[in-house]
Amino acid sequence: MCHVCNNHVETTTHALLTCDFASSCWSSFEASFSMATLSSFGNWFEYMQQTFDVEQVCRATMVCWAVWKARNETVWEKKTSSVEEVITSASVTLNHWRKAQDKTTLLSLSLENNGARSEFWIKPGTNQIKINVDATLFQQESSYGFGLVARDSSGRLIEAKTCYQGGVFPDEVVEAMGIKEALSWIKSKNWHNVEIETDSMLSVQSIRSNQIMSSIFGLLIQDCQILLSSLHNVHVRFIRRSANRVAHVVARHSRFLSGCSIFEHNVWTDLQSLLYSEC
Ligand SMILES: [Zn+2]
Repeated sequence: MCHVCNNHVETTTHALLTCDFASSCWSSFEASFSMATLSSFGNWFEYMQQTFDVEQVCRATMVCWAVWKARNETVWEKKTSSVEEVITSASVTLNHWRKAQDKTTLLSLSLENNGARSEFWIKPGTNQIKINVDATLFQQESSYGFGLVARDSSGRLIEAKTCYQGGVFPDEVVEAMGIKEALSWIKSKNWHNVEIETDSMLSVQSIRSNQIMSSIFGLLIQDCQILLSSLHNVHVRFIRRSANRVAHVVARHSRFLSGCSIFEHNVWTDLQSLLYSEC
């Protein structure tokens, strides 16, 4: 049985095209989008590919994805989505995905991380500070948190910070919030020569791009760009997750220690061992 309307057997065609909710999404997406050849989802998809241009096919495919995602949120999280949310999610995700495929940015990002050492955290250079930032979602509690960890050139902890807030946001939004927080932190400390490291490639790419996005994510990225331009010798860099373990641990811990500052004297044992192991 379809979990969205509780009124029909859930076939692919029903879930993605003909369910009342899906059908409202399609009308809102493009009124001219014909559902004429509906003997199966496969037939519809083929018909669509033959009839519409590449851009429309891409966008329609993303609508299918977003309708299915909304259906899963109903099933697993008892969340109801609006037609508008589905259409926005489809177009935002397509934009993000296209950016992530941008070969030049990908190349420049991977060139920065050449060599096997990029699997591990690397100490900053002399007189430099490195801040690792990571965000995490606590879906069951409808909240999110992030962790910021500042270390000096000998790998010693200068300070770590946690933040824990109620609210449900997509992953990339929380990652961007963490980066913004790191930049504000640098500003308030009046630090120079700082490297911020995140494992959110999308955030790094977006910060470096000139493209303006009107989503919450886009606005956060703009804030980051403004903050960055006001700081001296501060850079945001993409690193692998394995090189961002300390920030990840602090972010996971944020729900116990919200809004806390952690220094060498009050660092908990597990974190201390992890910090030492990376020195
Ligand atoms: Zn249905």
